[in-house]
Amino acid sequence: VGIYTSMALHTALSFILLTLALLASDTKYGFTRIAISDTSGGLLSRWLLPTLPVMIFSIGWLRLNGELAGYYEFEFGLALMVLLSITVCVIAVAWIALVLHRTDRTRKAAENEIRSLNAGLEKRVTERTQELAQLSDELSAANKSLELLSQQDAMTGLANRRHFDSYLDGQLNVTRRYNRALGLVLFDVDFFKAYNDHYGHPAGDECLKQVAQAIRSCCRRPSDLVARYGGEEFAMILPDTGLRGSIQIAEAARAAVMGLNIMHEHSAVSSIVTISGGVATALADAQYEGDLIAAADKMLYDAKDLGRNRVSSA
Ligand code: GH3
Ligand code: MG
Ligand code: MG
Repeated sequence: VGIYTSMALHTALSFILLTLALLASDTKYGFTRIAISDTSGGLLSRWLLPTLPVMIFSIGWLRLNGELAGYYEFEFGLALMVLLSITVCVIAVAWIALVLHRTDRTRKAAENEIRSLNAGLEKRVTERTQELAQLSDELSAANKSLELLSQQDAMTGLANRRHFDSYLDGQLNVTRRYNRALGLVLFDVDFFKAYNDHYGHPAGDECLKQVAQAIRSCCRRPSDLVARYGGEEFAMILPDTGLRGSIQIAEAARAAVMGLNIMHEHSAVSSIVTISGGVATALADAQYEGDLIAAADKMLYDAKDLGRNRVSSA
């Protein structure tokens, strides 16, 4: 140092030490970060770095003092120092290796446990997700069938009165908006009280089911709706169908019921079960669905008055 600067040796050393100390004080970067970490590198540097220099320095000091005291020659002292240094290094490395080995084994076991826990967890999550998806499917299917059930008449399987009302309301709106035709037909089974009285209520129910299917078989468009309007009364909503078309379908339904050929000994109009029908078509300025229903009902009364087993139209 003296050749290049006038700074004293201990001052220069102090500056070097201070610089190192400043570097070491920053724990976020550099070697200090490793030395204070809980990794294997941290463990190694914390144990070996302070220990080895002190040990080797002590061995050197002992050797020098032994030599000065005349216990042995220079060559023996050198051999002794090398041997002791090797021994100390080997022991230190073996000891650290043992510590690291144990730490690694514990860490590996923990990792394996975490891996198997994760696998189990993933399996459970997958199973649960599948279960939930299935439940959701079942729920929407149940909701769908519940919705259908709420619109259905239990006995005949036709649309019920509630569905009829809301469907007619919707179709009348469409009819008004696009200025289209809409046919409504009301049917009533002729002399059905007498049928019930003579053949019994269960037979009456069976007869109504067959009549319902016969009427339904005459509606082919997906937008047509056949509903059970009352006890032995049925209704047809025929969107986009004029008076002539509606009468045709009503007559087809009347023929289809006769085609069932269900015996009715107490009918004054025929020997088999028959129906009467009233047809009305929506006017562009019709304001309420009640207007249309009243008109069809009036025509049904008309058909009854004219002797039954017929279709009347406005
Ligand atoms: P009309 O030719 O004037 O229609 O005579 P009708 O006897 O059919 O007329 P009315 O309306 O007086 O009688 C309807 C009968 O329909 C009354 C009831 O016994 C029967 N009825 C109504 N709903 C059901 C039902 O769900 N099942 C059965 N079996 N009979 C029903
Ligand atoms: Mg009736
Ligand atoms: Mg009747």
